[in-house]
Amino acid sequence: MKKDSIELWFVTGSQHLYGEKTLKQVNSDSKAIAGALDKAESIPVKVIFRPVLTTADAITSICVDANNSPECAGLIAWMHTFSPAKMWISGLKKLNKPLLHFHTQYNRDIPWSEIDMDFMNLNQAAHGDREFGYICSRLRLDRKVVVGHWQDKDAVNAIGVWARAAMAALDARSLKVARFGDNMRDVAVTEGNKVSAQIRLDYQVHGYGVGDLANAVGKVSDKQVAVLVKQYGDEYKASTKVLASPSIKEAARIEIGMRTFLEKGGFKAFTTTFEDLHGLAQLPGLAVQRLMAEGYGFGAEGDWKTAALVRSMKVMARGLKGGTSFMEDYTYNLDPKNMAALGAHMLEVCPTIAAGKPTLEVHPLGIGGKADPARLIFRTSTGKAIVASMVEMGDRFRLIVNTMKVIDCPPMPRLPVASVLWKPDPDLKVAATAWIYAGGAHHTGFSQALTAEHMADFAAMTGTEFILINEKCQIEELKKELRWNDLYYHLNKGLC
Ligand code: MN
Repeated sequence: MKKDSIELWFVTGSQHLYGEKTLKQVNSDSKAIAGALDKAESIPVKVIFRPVLTTADAITSICVDANNSPECAGLIAWMHTFSPAKMWISGLKKLNKPLLHFHTQYNRDIPWSEIDMDFMNLNQAAHGDREFGYICSRLRLDRKVVVGHWQDKDAVNAIGVWARAAMAALDARSLKVARFGDNMRDVAVTEGNKVSAQIRLDYQVHGYGVGDLANAVGKVSDKQVAVLVKQYGDEYKASTKVLASPSIKEAARIEIGMRTFLEKGGFKAFTTTFEDLHGLAQLPGLAVQRLMAEGYGFGAEGDWKTAALVRSMKVMARGLKGGTSFMEDYTYNLDPKNMAALGAHMLEVCPTIAAGKPTLEVHPLGIGGKADPARLIFRTSTGKAIVASMVEMGDRFRLIVNTMKVIDCPPMPRLPVASVLWKPDPDLKVAATAWIYAGGAHHTGFSQALTAEHMADFAAMTGTEFILINEKCQIEELKKELRWNDLYYHLNKGLC
């Protein structure tokens, strides 16, 4: 797998007490571990070895360098020997990149017949890392702790999961979301404080009149449209009648105009609203689907939080098997023997989650009163997945994640949209009860590539509250967690 240009810096703490010879050994052991992590398939970014840290000045300087480096997504710290943690206070206080504490040891096994005091003095992570852990806890640093030998697959995989979250957190720092039109019809959950979102999550949300997008669409040439329509015919199942229809030509025109607009403004996520289509002939369906497949985040009806979340999920999922899409809990099957949720949207479901080749069709929309929009229709392959929702609680953002299984769906010949049928964990009754108590939205990011662990790591890095609804969820416990979290977020500003 090709590694992303993004870097994680591997830093090892020690001190001068041990003498030159030991420090040389610490240096070469650390280099070997950093090198192994750099080569690991499950870690999608480069892991860069940094020289062993033995003074407070060196520690502070590397933390400041990490903050200033556009490529550095975070630090992996390890205390091969004992590194008195007062040395770390200044640096860790300044560090504003994610931190992973890798509690490992160079040797896997104790060399029983040869172990002596030199060996004991060299291999001290068992206590050196506790000293480091203390100061992180004392500073209330929201870091990830991974325990295990550096060749242990589970430990390396856990670092890989965190690395993906760090990539998304780095991406979020410069994430610009374009909103075409405002929030739709007084919907509450799709709103939120955009200033808070920028302060806490770095998301920049820019509003545009739909007319600005219509202008970009109006500039697209017929030749550009013809080229793209031909591409549609190559990529999807589509009848010649559909491909020749004015609706498809219009959809292609919207796609090109939209892509040009987003590229010009450096946007990586966007929203639309079917309430406001001034100057556009049809609701952008196919365009949204295809842009999402390219990695753009999307939220319908002005939902900028979900647009940003879908973008972050797309960054985390890069190169993994399984797709990621904007989603909505649309309707239920409440048969007690087969309770399930049907997820879909009016048009905008990402074809990366399609099982097989999508079909390109044109149908009336039913609501909105505009021309018939083009859309890709498909089913989703079965298996494990998650949905995630970002809501604004006034004093904080809350990320709610529900694990689930996508299941087979009976034929629905009259349903002209892409859809997913799933059973949420632990079951629909408990999951929906929990989701509603937590204030989770109808709009979500859906992924078959990511796990709850990716989302938990991402939440921790961005100071976001994390609520997990999985097979262990119990309503009474969840209600307590929500109440306690309210207190925690109210009080934690003064804890340090
Ligand atoms: Mn919606």
